[in-house]
Amino acid sequence: MGYVFDPMPTPILAVAGSDDLLPVRRIFCVGRNYAAHAREMGRDPDREPPFFFTKPADAVVHDGETVNYPPETENLHYEAELVAVIGKGGRNIAQADALDHVWGYAVGNDLTRRDLQFQARELGRPWDWGKAFDRSAVIGPVHPVADIGHPDRGEIRLEVNGEVKQQADLSEMIWSTSEIVSLLSRSMTIKPGDVIMTGTPAGVGPLVEGDVCVASIEGLGELTTRIGPRV
Ligand code: MN
Repeated sequence: MGYVFDPMPTPILAVAGSDDLLPVRRIFCVGRNYAAHAREMGRDPDREPPFFFTKPADAVVHDGETVNYPPETENLHYEAELVAVIGKGGRNIAQADALDHVWGYAVGNDLTRRDLQFQARELGRPWDWGKAFDRSAVIGPVHPVADIGHPDRGEIRLEVNGEVKQQADLSEMIWSTSEIVSLLSRSMTIKPGDVIMTGTPAGVGPLVEGDVCVASIEGLGELTTRIGPRV
């Protein structure tokens, strides 16, 4: 017996300062994790429990790559985010133990077809078409916890063509990485290679063909994406 066609190659992330590869299993994303962003999305930033959506693992895009303007949207948005990568699986993980399950951190850009996301939101439909499209998960090299610890403060910033669009501090996250990992593990068994995009600060906005988008987080470096033509 064999596969009827080749199985897909395992999506990978780069590891900072190394030739090692990090295999990606799933991509979870947290919605509305900064109060000012919740408000700009027309929502109450009260500390209601965080909610999640997902992207396919093969939506990963690496630093320096071009992302062609995706189909069926007139409002592609950037969202700079801290990304936490799980290295040790588990379920029902206590918050006090949650950070022991994180292998490393990276800068991410949760590319979003905002018009399709809002349309889905209004109709009570799933967010997948707004969030989980091809090449929608831009994620830079992962910095091992062994090298950098667990970033919980420091500037998170995004520039488009050199102009600052998002500028905030990781300490403004409503739900911390340890809370997010603990909460997620109560709903799903988390496994090594699971990636969590932890939410974006205020200042989200559109990208157009030819834009160069640079997201950065203090201590985690820069993540550069050029938006290519519609194909
Ligand atoms: Mn996001």
